[in-house]
Amino acid sequence: MLTYDQWETAEKPSFPSDNETKGALDVLAWAYREYGDEIVYACSFGVEGIVLIDLISQVKPDAEIVFLDTGLHFQETYDTIAKVKEKYPSLCIVMKQPRLTLEEQKAQFGDELWKRDPNKCCELRKVIPLREVLTGVTAWISGLRREQSPTRRHVEYINKDDKFRSIKVCPLIHWTWKDVWNYVYKHDLPYNVLHDRGYPSIGCAPCTAPALDPNDLRSGRWAGQGKTECGLHLA
Ligand code: SF4
Repeated sequence: MLTYDQWETAEKPSFPSDNETKGALDVLAWAYREYGDEIVYACSFGVEGIVLIDLISQVKPDAEIVFLDTGLHFQETYDTIAKVKEKYPSLCIVMKQPRLTLEEQKAQFGDELWKRDPNKCCELRKVIPLREVLTGVTAWISGLRREQSPTRRHVEYINKDDKFRSIKVCPLIHWTWKDVWNYVYKHDLPYNVLHDRGYPSIGCAPCTAPALDPNDLRSGRWAGQGKTECGLHLA
């Protein structure tokens, strides 16, 4: 099994990217063969997440999908999760909560921490919870696409993840925004209605606005705060 500790010496698989799913199904088939129940998908339930869930359900119908439930998501996101649960009843969707409730966070760090110190807030409500999830598994799946931002341009299908000392599997690296939506429409998949209201990228409600720049899909995230990533994908 390809593990974090054996990364330097282990043989890495390679996958064709010139097929219908641009390699995604091959990568997922390999990942579930390689890791079995030792892999989870950390899903934000944005549109890329919907595509990945549909692909994963073809390979591993009872796969574990983890949602980092910060307690600050839009109601539309929770509605999307409900629709996905209905469409894919055999998937195991886990709502992972932070250790601190919002009230406890307010008592310890002050009100609306996301306005004063969004990195600390993301650490408490996303990074630490994901670390707790990944402690029990060898690898995780992420919906990163190279096109999304300069910080994601060099992502590979299979990555050594130093932040979580894990293997990060990214099946959608070659997908464009158009590919994602073509797949959703073709297969009539449910998706977050906020996408139709100018939100191409959807995170927590206090830190997500409609995209400011139509050419920058993540320009509505932490707008004006000089932050572009929640920290899950930064070394
Ligand atoms: S996205 Fe905003 S509200 Fe959500 S955890 Fe990060 S800083 Fe906090």
